[in-house]
Amino acid sequence: MKHVFVLALAALAALPSAVRIQAQSYPMTVVPPGKGPFTFPQGYQIPWDKIDIFVSEKMSPNLFVLHGSEALDPAHPDSSGGRAMALFGPDGVLLVDTENRQVAEKTLKAIRTFTDGPIRVLVNTHIHPDHTGANAFFARQGALIFAQDDLRNEMMRPPYRISGAAAPAPDMAAVPVVTYKYSAATRGEPAVTLNMNGETVDFIPMMPSHTAGDTIVRFRKANAIYIEDFYRNFGYPFADQANGGSIRGMLDAVDLIEQLADANTTLVPGHGTLVKKTDLLAYRAMLVDLLAKVTTLRDQGKSLKEVLAANLTAPYDKATLGDTQDSKDRFVTEVYDEVKDFPPIVDGKRTMPRHQ
Ligand SMILES: [Zn+2]
Repeated sequence: MKHVFVLALAALAALPSAVRIQAQSYPMTVVPPGKGPFTFPQGYQIPWDKIDIFVSEKMSPNLFVLHGSEALDPAHPDSSGGRAMALFGPDGVLLVDTENRQVAEKTLKAIRTFTDGPIRVLVNTHIHPDHTGANAFFARQGALIFAQDDLRNEMMRPPYRISGAAAPAPDMAAVPVVTYKYSAATRGEPAVTLNMNGETVDFIPMMPSHTAGDTIVRFRKANAIYIEDFYRNFGYPFADQANGGSIRGMLDAVDLIEQLADANTTLVPGHGTLVKKTDLLAYRAMLVDLLAKVTTLRDQGKSLKEVLAANLTAPYDKATLGDTQDSKDRFVTEVYDEVKDFPPIVDGKRTMPRHQ
């Protein structure tokens, strides 16, 4: 054993310094997401106690990405929860999203493996529970929460109601305190810029895309943008239309990234693997193709059932990880609802038709 170790050291010393520097370059993947396929039995309950939160990628010496275990969470079997990011250093911690409420303590524990700094700022990229679930927990740690106005609206007036029953009152500790709006006139411009820990961080409000309250977060020095969930490469696209999302808005979002990112910018989706902007093009083409095909079928008077039966995603299944029937049907249903009589956004929400 000792000989092997000495040899390894000698081999390392023999490497030209350029190669050694490259070996430490960012971004660095620590734990890649799982690839599946994953299956869960009927009636499966998420074992939150088994889900771990850990550093999955490093974007710079003081900008880390957190993610959860694979194969345990049916909503995100490749890696439980959505990605969270932590910028840390002498100015304290800036957090992008929180992971699920059930793993809040574990998320903090993972952060405490690399910094003892106070949690000062939290920005929410969108309302989904894997991104905002631990908001109240982190607010109690001292975080001031930033988000779009519409995210706050969605939280104050949740769109999903069991018929007849009033929606539960929001936990005010979880609701964003500092808010800003998206405006088409200032598209792509940061609503907030923070200078912390040697980084310059821009909160850029997005057009209604994954939801009506999306924000992307740009780290200028690390040349990385957290692009949240309007793009994904595990499962088919998801525009949460009830929360103001839109497939066409997701096209606009991809086009904005085309302008904001350079060829080397690392894009950090909420789910799936890290990508560069050219990786978004095939995704964009698929959205355009499905919008056109579903429009034709709806113009012919086809029902949702008939459109789903047409299996329009078939050409993309091979290249799409996590291509479950549920994921395809959800995507095609969104397109079906969007191409005709698409409800407007009111207070961050749309009143979507119910399909049986
Ligand atoms: Zn989401």
